[in-house]
Amino acid sequence: AAAFYPSDRYGYSELLSTPELAALGQLRTVLDKQVAPLLGEYWEAGEFPYQIRQPLVDLNLMAPEGATDSQGRTSGLYTGFRNFELARTDASVATFYNAQSGLFRTTVLKGGSPEQAADLDPKIRSFEYTGVFALTEPDHGSDIAGGLETSAWREGDNWVINGAKRWIGGAFTADVLAVFARDEADGQVKAFLVPRETPGVSMSKILRKTSLRMMQNADIELRAVRVPDTARLSNINSFKDVAALMRRLRSDVAWIACGLQAGAYEAALRYTLERQQFGRSLASFQLTQQKLATMAANVTASLGMVVRLTQRQEEGIFRDEDSAMAKMFTCTAMRETVALAREVVGGNGITLDTDVARFHADAEAVYSYEGTHDINALILGRALTGTGAFR
Ligand code: FAD
Repeated sequence: AAAFYPSDRYGYSELLSTPELAALGQLRTVLDKQVAPLLGEYWEAGEFPYQIRQPLVDLNLMAPEGATDSQGRTSGLYTGFRNFELARTDASVATFYNAQSGLFRTTVLKGGSPEQAADLDPKIRSFEYTGVFALTEPDHGSDIAGGLETSAWREGDNWVINGAKRWIGGAFTADVLAVFARDEADGQVKAFLVPRETPGVSMSKILRKTSLRMMQNADIELRAVRVPDTARLSNINSFKDVAALMRRLRSDVAWIACGLQAGAYEAALRYTLERQQFGRSLASFQLTQQKLATMAANVTASLGMVVRLTQRQEEGIFRDEDSAMAKMFTCTAMRETVALAREVVGGNGITLDTDVARFHADAEAVYSYEGTHDINALILGRALTGTGAFR
């Protein structure tokens, strides 16, 4: 039988159950029929095709039938391949979905109290309640752990939040923003679910992006924003708790980096098989085959890494450096893969008429978000050497 993904050379997707593969198959049908035809146009316009939201929501991808355990949870490998499948079609679509299913849901499930998590999770899974992850600030990206300036001050049963956030993906349409702010009393980072319409919240769209153009990112200002103490995620009491979230979030992004490069490689392979030069297909040339081989090996090595990382996380082994290494490595491989994909498609590889140009441009944002290559290398380096080099 044909592999579920042409780029999955070692058959990692064979580790999935039949209902999991069925759910991914349904997702692929929606992506191929309803999403793919819109991508070039919306990417060029810098707009998100919101008409794809409902078809994706209807698939119930966070708890597909037959693919959940007795507590309604999906397996880590299914979640990983879901990100892979989405990114294999488009990284903005994967990022949009992952903002809800990864960034926001993980923040509520791990950062909230068990009661908050139990109450909100069904609504998060069905997209009745949507949220985004607002950590990065205009003046603090890589150094957010020590640098975070947004402040929270407790007044009776309320908190008053002041500050600014940057790059927040999906904020314009979310019900709430999960805002990370430093408690002025104890100096520790806490998290609050701030309804988007709260007085004092204002946002503007980041324009003129050259990567992930469909994904809408916001600059957010928070001026004397008041939320009740019940809006606080009570399990987040310091940046250590935020770092614990990021171990999971980085793995999700490493899967996106695998999917993105798989999409680029598969599109490049199709193109080189069809396009004729010197009276034969591009794919028949040795130099082209060497590039295709490098791309296929990059996808396979990246997948092997995230599959094993995910299996270990399922066993309860979570270390900062493990997901940092996967984010770092898969993104480096991704960058090489998309560059080679673009190269073998020639001039057409810089137009939106072939998918590779979009993958090539979008890879740059994935390379930088959720911890840049440097920062993830330094997290790994600290674990390898016992010396933190980025204080
Ligand atoms: P900087 O921190 O200014 O870094 C610039 C360069 O300097 C990088 O190459 C970096 O690696 C390097 N550098 C920094 N410090 C060191 C050091 N000590 N040693 C060596 N090199 C160093 N954030 C959110 O909170 N929510 C979101 O939804 C979100 N979505 C995003 C979507 C997109 C498309 C993008 C681009 C970003 C998003 N981000 C989001 C923010 C993202 O996480 C940050 O961009 C990222 O952490 C890097 O921060 P920075 O852009 O401020 O770069």
